[in-house]
Amino acid sequence: MNLCNISDVKRLLSEFNTGTKKGFGQNFLINEEIPYKIAEESYLCHIKKAGEGKSGVIEIGPGIGTLTCKLCERYDKVVAVEIDKTLIPVLDKTLAEYDNKEIINEDFLKLDLEKLVSEKFGDGAAVSVCANLPYYITTPIIMKILEESFAKKVRFLSVTVMVQKEVAERLCASAGDSEYGAITASLNYYGKARKLFDVSPENFMPSPKVTSSVIQIEPHEQIPYKVANEKMLFEVIAGAFAQRRKTLVNSLSSYFKTVSKEEIANIITSLGYDINIRGEKLGTEDFCRIADELAKKGMNI
Ligand code: SAM
Repeated sequence: MNLCNISDVKRLLSEFNTGTKKGFGQNFLINEEIPYKIAEESYLCHIKKAGEGKSGVIEIGPGIGTLTCKLCERYDKVVAVEIDKTLIPVLDKTLAEYDNKEIINEDFLKLDLEKLVSEKFGDGAAVSVCANLPYYITTPIIMKILEESFAKKVRFLSVTVMVQKEVAERLCASAGDSEYGAITASLNYYGKARKLFDVSPENFMPSPKVTSSVIQIEPHEQIPYKVANEKMLFEVIAGAFAQRRKTLVNSLSSYFKTVSKEEIANIITSLGYDINIRGEKLGTEDFCRIADELAKKGMNI
């Protein structure tokens, strides 16, 4: 059976009385080269950072196991989390030859990642994440991995994921680019993303309407910024981009109703920024400085 052959995949799904489900963002890869390249990029980054010792990876949404096979051929252990229970018996069949895999039927967004890693890989193990992500929940999944990675005792070495091209461009943008936004500045707090390659729609079954891109995020070993209140930082970032066309002062003052425009303007100029600057010109470090000043002025959230 070839997991990248459309007729084989259709036969397999009908054998288990199932089919592709739009609601779960199921677009299965049907060009073997793509999962091969994703797994290879993931593993190379993992070993570069982990060095010697056992290697482990968590896959989100294995589908019928196309990428999972390639991960099993590289990593010592693969834990794959699939929400669709009808795919579990399919995966038992397609991955039968690999004894280094474990399939979990769960919603990834509901998992406690520290618990998952310590139960499946051992306390404090450093693992990677690799996935062809379901597009309807790309951002919540990426932010969950990064937030839990720093809030809890779990360390992710690399996150290699396929997302929509447009999302990839936002995640990998630099301050000043038109694609740069709240999600970029928030992601940069935890790590750095870079685009690896694009994947066109005909490489999937069914084909999505848009082009996809594989990106790789390397979480910082330690957060390189100092900020008194992280929650305030993310509010400042959200406020700065809430009204993109406005200046930072106008956007922040409409967002934070309890602080006057004058006070915000004072903070921005006292930190040395132009009064007319827009949020898209500022990096994560700048937002940390602004968040700290707002906190000093007694503002709380
Ligand atoms: N990895 C396979 C491939 O590349 O062919 C399938 C990728 S498909 C784009 C996304 C997969 O994520 C589907 O198998 C879907 O059922 C699964 N999925 C969707 N939401 C999920 C969630 N919240 N937790 C875990 N898996 C999920």
